[in-house]
Amino acid sequence: MNLHKASLDDLLARAREFIDQEVIPREDLSRARDRDYLLTTTAQLRELAISRGLTSPRESPANGGLGLSWEDCCAYLEIAGRSFLGPGALQCAAPAQPDIALLDALVTPEQRQQFLLPLMRAEQRSCFAMTEPAPGVGSDPRMLRTSATRTASGWVLEGHKWFASLASSADFAIVVARTESGPSLFLVETTRPGFRIVRDVPTIEPFNLGGHGEIRLERCEVPAEALLGQEGQGLAHCQLRLEGARLFHCMRFIGMASRAIGMAQTYALGRESNGARLAEHQMVQAMVADAHIDLHAARLMTIDTARRLDAGESIRHHSAMVKVFVSEAVNRVADSAVQITGALGISEDWPLSMIQRTFRPFRIYDGASEVHRAAIAKRVFHQGLEA
Ligand SMILES: Cc1cc2nc3c(=O)[nH]c(=O)nc-3n(C[C@H](O)[C@H](O)[C@H](O)COP(=O)(O)OP(=O)(O)OC[C@H]3O[C@@H](n4cnc5c(N)ncnc54)[C@H](O)[C@@H]3O)c2cc1C
Repeated sequence: MNLHKASLDDLLARAREFIDQEVIPREDLSRARDRDYLLTTTAQLRELAISRGLTSPRESPANGGLGLSWEDCCAYLEIAGRSFLGPGALQCAAPAQPDIALLDALVTPEQRQQFLLPLMRAEQRSCFAMTEPAPGVGSDPRMLRTSATRTASGWVLEGHKWFASLASSADFAIVVARTESGPSLFLVETTRPGFRIVRDVPTIEPFNLGGHGEIRLERCEVPAEALLGQEGQGLAHCQLRLEGARLFHCMRFIGMASRAIGMAQTYALGRESNGARLAEHQMVQAMVADAHIDLHAARLMTIDTARRLDAGESIRHHSAMVKVFVSEAVNRVADSAVQITGALGISEDWPLSMIQRTFRPFRIYDGASEVHRAAIAKRVFHQGLEA
């Protein structure tokens, strides 16, 4: 539902106050890779957020959420995204949100009780395990190698996955595996024999709450009821997860990019060079102006796609365009923010270098820019789309 404007304004004001006064001050840059600190602090902030009525934006009020429309989510997630810890505190971090959307559309009543409801209540964590190291599936879904073989009582999974975000602290994984009918989804508890976390793959990202797990599935037996949705329809089902997930990333990262350029502006107003403040140098002004242009366009594209999702339209084409544009725009903005703030921007005394490293992977996950551009162009030529 779209909230009445006054209620939405009130919600956003409270969210902004919470993020600026409670969450950002708890960002300890020196502990950006300390998993215990990250999980404990986020859990504490989540409790505080819930006590202030700031909860999961998409979940229905009956399930303890705010029940916001996709359009209303844009502003809420932008505020959450201002802080590294904000999305976890306001329950709109990946991968929980897209996993909830996927499960909500596909689960049986038993799976709802066992997996979905605990996930919605943040009592359990999930991860999504599709990607495999070469020569397995990456950008091309046809390269899926992990197999699920039917047995008398269920399935046996065999395969090698990596980059499953949050895997090492997840209670269950949504595993994409190939059956005789094609790619299919399975709900697999991470404690099952044969499900082995090899390691967290080290990456450039700071404040990474859950890491990115490498997983071995070695004769991992699951019951017949572990199948999620229809056998052979796994890739179509994944679309349910991806489109909303991409949009959520765009919303959060617009907020973080806006914070970054705001910090750079403050620096430019206070720092002098060649007898003038940086803010008076035209080349610095151009970087700031371009950042504002990028963020304005990014916001409008995101809101437009969110409205289409609210209207029940297919957003396949638009979500690809918005994902490419926003992922590249926020990277440009962060790069300018670092450039304007010089050595301070590169340091870890300030969050700007960390923001830049947070954004870089977004040009790769949820579909690399090149893959989306190829798909956009294919649709344009096949369907004769006008710009
Ligand atoms: C931070 C992060 C989090 C992730 N989280 C998850 C997760 O939770 N679960 C999960 O399953 N996966 C996850 N992934 C994996 C992600 O989905 C893959 O990285 C992505 O699908 C690309 O696959 P790949 O890395 O194997 O790249 P490749 O498929 O090897 O592609 C490498 C590069 O080749 C180019 N390329 C590829 N195909 C084409 C093409 N058709 N046309 C033109 N150029 C092309 C692109 O530039 C691309 O970046 C995550 C990745 C990152 C970085």
